[in-house]
Amino acid sequence: MPCINNNLIKVQQQIHEAATATGREPADITLLAVSKTRTADELKQAYDHGQRHFGENYLQESLEKIDALSALDDLCWHFIGPIQSNKTRPIAESFHWVHSVDRIKIARRLSEQRPEHLPALNICLQINISGEESKAGCLPEDTATLVAEIAALPRIKLRGLMAIPQATDDPEQQRDAFHRMQQLFTELKQNHPTLDTLSMGMSGDMAMAIAEGATIVRIGTAIFGARDYSNKQN
Ligand SMILES: *Cc1c(COP(=O)(O)O)cnc(C)c1O
Repeated sequence: MPCINNNLIKVQQQIHEAATATGREPADITLLAVSKTRTADELKQAYDHGQRHFGENYLQESLEKIDALSALDDLCWHFIGPIQSNKTRPIAESFHWVHSVDRIKIARRLSEQRPEHLPALNICLQINISGEESKAGCLPEDTATLVAEIAALPRIKLRGLMAIPQATDDPEQQRDAFHRMQQLFTELKQNHPTLDTLSMGMSGDMAMAIAEGATIVRIGTAIFGARDYSNKQN
């Protein structure tokens, strides 16, 4: 069993260092533990060491964990994977946040299906910042229109933007993608001042994302170790 506790402490230290190095408050950055392929027991270990935000990519697997851990009522569940439009209802019913909305159809369905007794669903719009043809996400030039449409939905609280920039070995190119996200975010805030979330940065590029303004970093491997997909069913 990898040492989740030590890894969490190490990642928190890295967040602290990256924030103070660029004059930011460490408390302004939320650590989202990406727990796809991990068991409910492993999540519980992280919970016991203070972790409250968990990110999941695969619906069936995540619903099982949400159910298994339902006694822990201060857990905050974030859906960060691709969304099929016929699978929006369980997401609207069981999650607190969705980072991977990239079209109005999905946002409308999530708003319509969000149960009345729950607060509005927190949403980030996923941006295809590197313009990759095969990737999910809204293109930067289409973002302003989509933000205006989503902001009008009653059961959605639009919080900001999310990106998974193209993987690259070139630090300049990597930083440039995060920088363009920050610029896009700043532009959108002129018309939508309540936006407060920039979800970017993973295990390999967290410090650079923080330097460019990330408010949520999504970290899997650095907390839980390398993933094993061999027994995945969905
Ligand atoms: C898996 C995943 C992560 C975490 O990646 P690591 O490199 O393991 O930290 C972050 N964001 C998304 C959208 C993911 O699918």
